[in-house]
Amino acid sequence: MTLATLADVLQPALRQGYAVGGLVTLGWEDMRAYVAAAEAEAVPVILQAGPSCRAHTPLPVLGKMFRHLAESASVPVVAHLDHGYTLEECREALDSGFTSLMFDGSRKPLAQNIDETAAIAEMTHAAGISCEGEIGFVGYSGGESSAGTDPDEAAQFARETGVDAMAISVGNVHLQQESSAGLDEDRIRAIEAVTAVPLVIHGGSGVPEAQRRSLARGTSICKFNIGTELRMAFGAALRDAVNRDPERFDRVQILSETHDPLVDATRTVLRAFGGGAQ
Ligand SMILES: [Zn+2]
Repeated sequence: MTLATLADVLQPALRQGYAVGGLVTLGWEDMRAYVAAAEAEAVPVILQAGPSCRAHTPLPVLGKMFRHLAESASVPVVAHLDHGYTLEECREALDSGFTSLMFDGSRKPLAQNIDETAAIAEMTHAAGISCEGEIGFVGYSGGESSAGTDPDEAAQFARETGVDAMAISVGNVHLQQESSAGLDEDRIRAIEAVTAVPLVIHGGSGVPEAQRRSLARGTSICKFNIGTELRMAFGAALRDAVNRDPERFDRVQILSETHDPLVDATRTVLRAFGGGAQ
């Protein structure tokens, strides 16, 4: 049984200078591959259920799947709700066995974001699990634009909410299919100077690998969320498997061929964050 909370995996990462992958799951095939990759690299892993995952599979089912994988894993596994937007959604995840809840109040005015996130943090801590909040706004490729995190607001947010991890907006954008110009390291330095809370980068797929590597080791960024990059790897592997034999129709047989390519792609992602037994 290696089920862990977010604080369980991020505090050692903060102290020892590495980061943990927050990997966006969509179903059994990717969850299983992510855990296999983390075991192969001997690093912890955060399995994340975001809005599109939850639209496809109910939270109680996802909680069972995450916990089942954690129970037999040789590395710590966190069952994490990504972008919970309401108290009800967060409570359902808690009741479904999740060990970490991200409450996203980043579209709300500062005071409201702080009040609502503090209430979720209090609920999670009473239950012995963790909470991630977001300060500033991380935008979406082809959609809403970002609002960079103000260091003073970040310090206040950390102090007044009691979150275990804080997602920040420093040039990162969700859903990027290619590497961007990279993150604003001056802003990261300014934020980490005023808070001891582990920092989280959403939209990690757009961050160049060399920068992921250096930020994981040299800053208090302890979690990179990676979705698009691994969804693209899975999609490519699935397309190959489907095209390999036009007569084939059994989906278990077709999906089984996505496993090894996705494990390989995930291992490469996790290795850049450090923390493994090199
Ligand atoms: Zn996000």
